[in-house]
Amino acid sequence: MRAPKLLEKMTHKIPSNHPRASSLIIREKLVDGFNRGIVVPQGLIAHGRGEAFDYLLGEKTTKYAYDAEKVAVCILLLSDKSAISINGNTAALCAKDLVKLSYVTKSRIEVNIFHRSVARSNTIARILRKEGSHEVLGVNTKAKSIIYGISSNRKFVDKEGIMDSDTVLVALEDGDRTESLVRMGKKVISVDLNPLSRTAIASNVTIIDNIVRAMPYLVETTKKIKNMKRSSLEKIVDQYDNQYNLDKSIKLIRGNASSKRR
Ligand code: ATP
Ligand code: MG
Repeated sequence: MRAPKLLEKMTHKIPSNHPRASSLIIREKLVDGFNRGIVVPQGLIAHGRGEAFDYLLGEKTTKYAYDAEKVAVCILLLSDKSAISINGNTAALCAKDLVKLSYVTKSRIEVNIFHRSVARSNTIARILRKEGSHEVLGVNTKAKSIIYGISSNRKFVDKEGIMDSDTVLVALEDGDRTESLVRMGKKVISVDLNPLSRTAIASNVTIIDNIVRAMPYLVETTKKIKNMKRSSLEKIVDQYDNQYNLDKSIKLIRGNASSKRR
């Protein structure tokens, strides 16, 4: 219980009218996650890359991100079996919403970390259970299966989770594995602030948004449209063009970068 209190103390120090308040709170959450053994130092660096893109996007969910998020929900609702892949950064930033999303979309949750450690996986799983998840995959070493063609530790997935799913939602994912999952015929939905990353390019649906904004919106949108007819959900998916959407996000970043100081 000490750690969340400490986080509260740190975030209270950030004045709410500070122009970068939400960005600073995210940093504090990650530092807190690092201190609690959830986030690795490399995760802090990966966040820095995302943060730079978020700055260029205006630190808000764009129209194109909202569009991709709606399509992502449709795909999750249409899937037979879906899985949400969770790593240290995503657990530190939005564990509660990840668990909520798994319930409303009936997706399984899998702890899947790049810098593998049993202790860290168990810590992340514990947090997800505390947030209400009844079944956390990725922590039973006997259920491990391998994605061929990947040399890193990301090749290990749970045979009941990512391996067995037709749709996988990933965030802060590495390009190698995204490409492999797509090659395996899975629908990959990614949340990645960088529209130029290999993950962004390879995914079927790329949400160019900060995970902390994307997750609550995905939960709310699911609640709103989960009773829609399958044919209506399919229509929304069919009308969506991920490449077009990515190009629009890149154009937006280019425009923001060349405009006068905000
Ligand atoms: P790729 O391997 O796909 O080419 P990469 O090597 O640049 O990507 P990684 O380090 O593998 O990136 O993964 C981190 C990715 O997550 C980065 O693209 C970064 O923009 C993104 N990212 C970091 N923090 C966030 C966040 N809070 N929300 C969404 N995306 C984020
Ligand atoms: Mg990478």
